[in-house]
Amino acid sequence: MALERLLKGFKDFHTGYYREHRDLYQRLATEGQSPRILIIGCADARVDPGILTQTQPGDIFTVRNVAAMVPPAQYPPDTRHHGTSSAIEFAVRGLGVEHVVVLGHALCGGIGALVDGRDSIYASYDYLSTWTSIAQEVRDRAVQELKGRSREEITRAVEQAAVLNSLSNLMSFRWIAEKVEAGTLALHGWWFNMMEGQLYAFNPETGTFAAVKGVKVEPTVVKGTSLSAIAPERLLATVAGNKPAF
Ligand SMILES: [Zn+2]
Repeated sequence: MALERLLKGFKDFHTGYYREHRDLYQRLATEGQSPRILIIGCADARVDPGILTQTQPGDIFTVRNVAAMVPPAQYPPDTRHHGTSSAIEFAVRGLGVEHVVVLGHALCGGIGALVDGRDSIYASYDYLSTWTSIAQEVRDRAVQELKGRSREEITRAVEQAAVLNSLSNLMSFRWIAEKVEAGTLALHGWWFNMMEGQLYAFNPETGTFAAVKGVKVEPTVVKGTSLSAIAPERLLATVAGNKPAF
């Protein structure tokens, strides 16, 4: 049943969208792809970056993994299988994207598992907790700073702070730091709240995520942005200093 729905969808795509965009596909096939944006999103079935941004084939290069995380760079590179890092490398070095967006989201199961730690039903999985431990320090700090707050509030804080952690990790790749410093690459920290259908972007000046209104948003990291401005600890301290959100 579920698969039939996919094939029905593909049939509709073939006779509808593909036919309407045949020229676009032909051009992409002959000229290759040249997206200007890399989106690093979560594998969650509810937050498809292409649907959220209403983009067309060729517009965005996308990496999706558990909790939209970026691991720190590994220097010197080793022989392990760095799926996310290699996709980022191809987008930045190969395709020359001008923007990298880390897109976290509300109700993220990966972040929930990280927050719950040993109490999580996923704690005994082979790979999951090792992967989400990319943001372990952020999680531990949030639990400590937001002691007494609800799980929902702590989880939201970690969801957003993990986006900043990923931006910091992006800057640990030398070819990303170099391009940011050259002014040819900008990094963006976004968070999507599916309950209200609202997109939020991190503003380094206020240290918080603010609802995006309209079509203009300031990048989170550009040439000259200090890494302390995007430190996850700063966001957590701001959340801890405000009244509970729930
Ligand atoms: Zn998620």
